Amino acid sequence: MAFMQNNKFSPFKRKIWLSSPTMHGEELYWVTDAYSKNWMSTIGENINEVEREIARKIGVKYAVALSSGTSSLHLAMKLIGIRRGEKVFCSDLTFSATVNPIIYENAIPIFIDTEIDTWNMDPVALEKAFEIHPEVKFIVLANLYGVPGKIDEIKKIADKHGAKIIEDAAESFGATYKQKQTGTFGDIGIISFNGNKIITGSSGGMLLTNSLEQANKARKWSTQSREDAAWYQHEEIGFNYRMSNVIAGVIRGQIPYLDEHIAQKRAIYERYKDGFKDLPVKMNPYDNKNSVPNFWLSCLIIDEKAMCKQVRSENDSCYIKESKKTCPTEILETLASLNAEGRPIWKPMHMQPIFRMNEFITREGNGRGRTNAYIAGNGVDVGMDIFNRGLCLPSDNKMSVEEQDKIIEIIRACFD
Ligand SMILES: *Cc1c(COP(=O)(O)O)cnc(C)c1O
Repeated sequence: MAFMQNNKFSPFKRKIWLSSPTMHGEELYWVTDAYSKNWMSTIGENINEVEREIARKIGVKYAVALSSGTSSLHLAMKLIGIRRGEKVFCSDLTFSATVNPIIYENAIPIFIDTEIDTWNMDPVALEKAFEIHPEVKFIVLANLYGVPGKIDEIKKIADKHGAKIIEDAAESFGATYKQKQTGTFGDIGIISFNGNKIITGSSGGMLLTNSLEQANKARKWSTQSREDAAWYQHEEIGFNYRMSNVIAGVIRGQIPYLDEHIAQKRAIYERYKDGFKDLPVKMNPYDNKNSVPNFWLSCLIIDEKAMCKQVRSENDSCYIKESKKTCPTEILETLASLNAEGRPIWKPMHMQPIFRMNEFITREGNGRGRTNAYIAGNGVDVGMDIFNRGLCLPSDNKMSVEEQDKIIEIIRACFD
């Protein structure tokens, strides 16, 4: 897109990021500790310590430190028994890393539409999916933008149909549902320490389980599946998926700041909510009776009646400005031109060219090729509707109150 960066009229002295790493100093201490003791590989105290601390914090017996959230999902899928040709019900409104490991195992993702109360997997659509495919045994469930979904309802349906759940808590580390940490609700859970997540190792992830057998298998597979022998002996295919002790040092330094980051992100969400209270928009919703999100990203969705005309092709978008109306494209282009980073809502998986042949199930059944599969206000499915009308706001926890006030002002002006 041809909008300007580093505009000389920008009110910001520096770029305002969507969500960037926030370091505190202790990270360097533990990295230096690894360096000075020469534990620069995939074993060492930092790994042991972060596995212990994260398992305790989340409330699972075992946390296995791996190279990324994606590799954690991949091993979770192998452990739980997802095999070639197997159908897997999967969150539709999520980042593609939730889905890719299903494909690595040559299994078949079937996308389940989204509900409007938390922007996560719709239990009604999931029940519909089991009506169509009663034989399905696996569900991959993400908590979008740090907001727990309708977990009890989903678990009930899974239990009724004897299906197992992998919980992708990559974006929701530290969020709780009925006082329990996300990542604990599936048969296996995962979190991510990617650079833009709530705390980071620069990269890294963890597999969460209460099964010692699963934890041991994940450790073995992630270090090339070496058997207990004097030489390299292999009975299974291995992976190079173990976390580095250097990365673990960064994470070890970040863990004490998780709660601080969540408090900052929450304050950002509340300030946006307050700043937009008289505009025709809503913030990304959550169930405030049962859940406490980690507020990783603040998002907003524009009321139908305040949307100007916006057209998106596969790779580009344009809009026609109307008085008192706006759209995500206008807001994002305006923010970008003033050196602030917002982002469209994650484009739903069923809209992605790579998954165009995969099934997509809404409340009304198979949503492929139907113009009004579920009417979410404008004749599209819920995920597509959120994608069309929603956007992610700059949510960096280093953004000052003054900077955020300017963001709010800029967005308000889009509604003039
Ligand atoms: C970031 C993310 C992942 C992948 O984590 P990586 O550590 O980047 O591999 C998986 N699922 C979701 C929903 C994510 O946001």
